[in-house]
Amino acid sequence: MKYQSTRGEAPILEFGDVLLAGLAVDGGLYMPSELPEIGQADLRAFANLPYTEVATRVLAPFVAPSIDEDSLGRMVEEAYATFRHPDVVPITELPSEGVNDHHIVELHWGPTFSFKDVALQLLGRLFEHELERRATSVTVVGATSGDTGSAAIEACRDREGIELVMLHPRGRISEVQRRQMTTVASSNIHNVSIDGTFDDCQDLVKAMFADSSFRQQRRLAAVNSINWARVAAQTVYYFTTGTQLGGGERQTSFCVPTGNFGNILAGYIAAQMGLPVDRLIIASNHNDILTRTHLSGLMEIEQVIPSTSPAMDIQVSSNFERLLFDLSDREAAWLRTAMQDFRANGQLPLSEALITRLRNIFDADRASELEVEETIADVHSATGQFIDPHTAVAVSVARRLEAGSSPIAIMSTAHPAKFGDVVQDATGVAPAQPEEIKDLYGRTESCTDLPNELNAIMEFVSSATNA
Ligand SMILES: *Cc1c(COP(=O)(O)O)cnc(C)c1O
Repeated sequence: MKYQSTRGEAPILEFGDVLLAGLAVDGGLYMPSELPEIGQADLRAFANLPYTEVATRVLAPFVAPSIDEDSLGRMVEEAYATFRHPDVVPITELPSEGVNDHHIVELHWGPTFSFKDVALQLLGRLFEHELERRATSVTVVGATSGDTGSAAIEACRDREGIELVMLHPRGRISEVQRRQMTTVASSNIHNVSIDGTFDDCQDLVKAMFADSSFRQQRRLAAVNSINWARVAAQTVYYFTTGTQLGGGERQTSFCVPTGNFGNILAGYIAAQMGLPVDRLIIASNHNDILTRTHLSGLMEIEQVIPSTSPAMDIQVSSNFERLLFDLSDREAAWLRTAMQDFRANGQLPLSEALITRLRNIFDADRASELEVEETIADVHSATGQFIDPHTAVAVSVARRLEAGSSPIAIMSTAHPAKFGDVVQDATGVAPAQPEEIKDLYGRTESCTDLPNELNAIMEFVSSATNA
């Protein structure tokens, strides 16, 4: 398998290179030159196979020739053994009054109770394997406003060849989120709290990557959501869910609480590979750039307004570029100019032809903060189940849209206990906290406070890497 950049001016690479490179040198994102096809017989078989077996079969063509199938299978087994549910990604029923049956796909049974674990638990192991093969090491540097940081830390802790430096804005993340990061006692994990906002943290990381001599000297690497390996790992639960609900023959629709467009893009990729998919439903909170784009054909940046589903509070959905690449029949030259204009003007008009192709498979809608609260309360009073605010955005949208007649699989991206305050405000009841979250309060925290100054951070990264 070969990979090409969405902007057409970066070298064609193999999986191992794409894994470690993250962003392409032309600023684009890597995509497989051709997608593998999953045939009818495989799809029927998937309905009855364990998650790990489907994962190995779906992912093997993406990682070849860099990684052989046996090694992949071993990493997959290890990655998903960390999940707290035997099905890895279980599916439950949600009573529905509309024409579509509703199901909840629980993506949150990983070590940090967030859907980020599904991809990152595998990514950490793929990184370690590839670094060992190349006899080299990297320093992973990242910024987090919450969930990604802890999932990346759990994925990289104690892995050979990886040092991880994670920046977070001091006092601006929840206590559970902070403790999930700072109580990990591994010598290769370095937490830094910055006296500033999340945007300051992200700017510091960007500035380090932009300094090419520092970047090379320290062998900086990223595990952010533009890494193709994350998208690939996420296609797996579309296959397990779609085949369990439809037997490999009938279509399924998916409703996805969307931020950076990584999750739902994986659903689109699964559909291109042969999974019978009816509708892919983009669910936004009030930061609804994608819903507005779907409606009007104009992609336009607006101010981000904080919400109770913070993982979806974004201005630009970076993985949307991969969809535009595919929908435009891989017009890299057009996309290169279009993305530059979009960065410069904050606006990107899409052609009628492109918008029509988008609407052929995608629906989109938004949920207000009030709708999120009402949905959490209603699901609890009807079923006794707690859902987190991100999941509630998707449930609210799925209930409103009548999309085809297929069953709708609603992606549940966080455990309700991670957003216990919001859930309690909506229902009047605090969701039970898993032991692993309760335990966090008794553990010692380790974190370095630094000012919002590039030099200070670079010195810290250098000393962490030399240790
Ligand atoms: C990251 C995240 C999302 C958004 O997923 P994207 O792949 O960025 O669209 C939604 N919910 C939760 C809880 C998340 O952590």
